Amino acid sequence: MSYDVVVIGSGPGGYGCAIKAAQIGLKIAVVEKRPTFGGTCLNVGCIPSKALLYASEVYAEVNRGFDELGFKVSKPNLDLIKMMDYKQLVIDSNTNGVAFLFKKNKIDAFIGMGKILATGKVEVTAENGTKQILKTRNIVIATGSDIAAIPGVEVDFDEKVIVSSTGALSFEEVPQSIIIVGAGVIGSELGSVWHRLGAKVEVIEFLDKALGTMDGEISKQFQKLMEKQGISYKFGAKVIDVKKNSRGAVVTFKKIQSDEVKKIEADVVLVATGRCPYTEGVGLQTVGVALDECGRVKIDGHWRTNVRGIYAIGDVVKGPMLAHKAASEGITVAEVLAGQAGDVNFDVIPSVVYTQPEVASVGRTEEELRAAGIKYKIGKFPFTASGRARAMMHTDGFVKILACSRTDRVLGGHILGFGASEMIHEIAILMEFGGSSEDLGRTCHAHPTMSEAVREAALAIFAKPIHL
Ligand SMILES: Cc1cc2nc3c(=O)[nH]c(=O)nc-3n(C[C@H](O)[C@H](O)[C@H](O)COP(=O)(O)OP(=O)(O)OC[C@H]3O[C@@H](n4cnc5c(N)ncnc54)[C@H](O)[C@@H]3O)c2cc1C
Repeated sequence: MSYDVVVIGSGPGGYGCAIKAAQIGLKIAVVEKRPTFGGTCLNVGCIPSKALLYASEVYAEVNRGFDELGFKVSKPNLDLIKMMDYKQLVIDSNTNGVAFLFKKNKIDAFIGMGKILATGKVEVTAENGTKQILKTRNIVIATGSDIAAIPGVEVDFDEKVIVSSTGALSFEEVPQSIIIVGAGVIGSELGSVWHRLGAKVEVIEFLDKALGTMDGEISKQFQKLMEKQGISYKFGAKVIDVKKNSRGAVVTFKKIQSDEVKKIEADVVLVATGRCPYTEGVGLQTVGVALDECGRVKIDGHWRTNVRGIYAIGDVVKGPMLAHKAASEGITVAEVLAGQAGDVNFDVIPSVVYTQPEVASVGRTEEELRAAGIKYKIGKFPFTASGRARAMMHTDGFVKILACSRTDRVLGGHILGFGASEMIHEIAILMEFGGSSEDLGRTCHAHPTMSEAVREAALAIFAKPIHL
């Protein structure tokens, strides 16, 4: 069989690319080594984690009770097996959805390991060892990423006691205690899940703050709120060993400032120190596809590798490791392959932490603007002053908007608060159109909404907020 494009990997990058290219009218094949489609995101990433975050959030809310709202409920009984069944149901409906879309768009989907033999030639090896060759004009590498170990530390993941995010999505019982190595997005989200379900959670972080890449003020407030919920942190700590012991596991770390070495124990340890590009067995060396210094597939501004006819997208290339970034690249590459114009604006890629409250961010942080020497104005508005937030008892957090001092163009938006994951998009769209704080502040927002706080933060830049 001969194709216009063979996509290796069916994550958000790969399936987005395949569907878009098929919609344009190209003949497409997708090769996926997992038994189901959807990649990390649908199988062991975004979707299962959000199912558990939702279920555990509802559980924690019921557990806390609703006395203030004028009614009583009895304490919930946790049935973790059923909660995991719910998670699986959500995964299945999404992965089956991708399979359906492949069929609907007449995309040939192959389950098996994809290996590039030469330009225009991909070998697919099924689990039973059967091989077939796909001929194609173009190849898109969308092989994603894998868990990263702790730099310089050999970690023996058994996915029961010493786990990656994959194991932490499938515990058979709630551990009494968890040590999480890494206070980034995945550590914060999965820490929240297990803390809500009853585990004692302790986070060890190399940096001096949680959510290292987020705006400093937001991450400081986030940490305070997490601590208030009962999660504890050790910052400036370099983990030097993780081992199983008779109780569960022991983590040895060195305080960066004092060089003091300490050990802590817990039932389980979750290593959440990030992800690395996955290029194993794809045949990149055979055809001479170059990697960069971080092991990512090297691409130019049009996602072309150094080998003609071979493109790469998603977690396996530079940029934030996010599903929507991968999907945007996939869709754009499909357009490029069809000879159309396509582009991704890397200055406007939102990023979200789905804790409660949520954290959402787009564009530059205050630290980045300062480092770049760009003069900026800040507008902030706390949810304590929002009528809707008060009515829903979700007054934690604030909105922070950063605009250029000279032009008033919005350069970044950061929200800590209930529903931040949805609200961030009004700032993203504003930025996509090159909008100013005045554009945002003069836009009528429905009342009462959490989004009014976004408008008020914009008003705080070029005028004054009304409700402060
Ligand atoms: C716990 C967790 C939570 C996350 N939550 C979020 C979130 O809320 N929001 C967000 O934006 N991002 C989230 N992410 C990150 C997100 O999952 C990734 O950024 C996204 O999946 C990357 O998409 P991709 O298409 O590049 O690769 P992937 O989704 O990793 O897909 C790559 C696919 O390629 C397949 N493959 C690899 N090599 C071969 C081969 N040789 N032959 C055939 N198939 C191959 C793999 O099996 C895989 O299915 C999360 C990640 C984790 C681990």
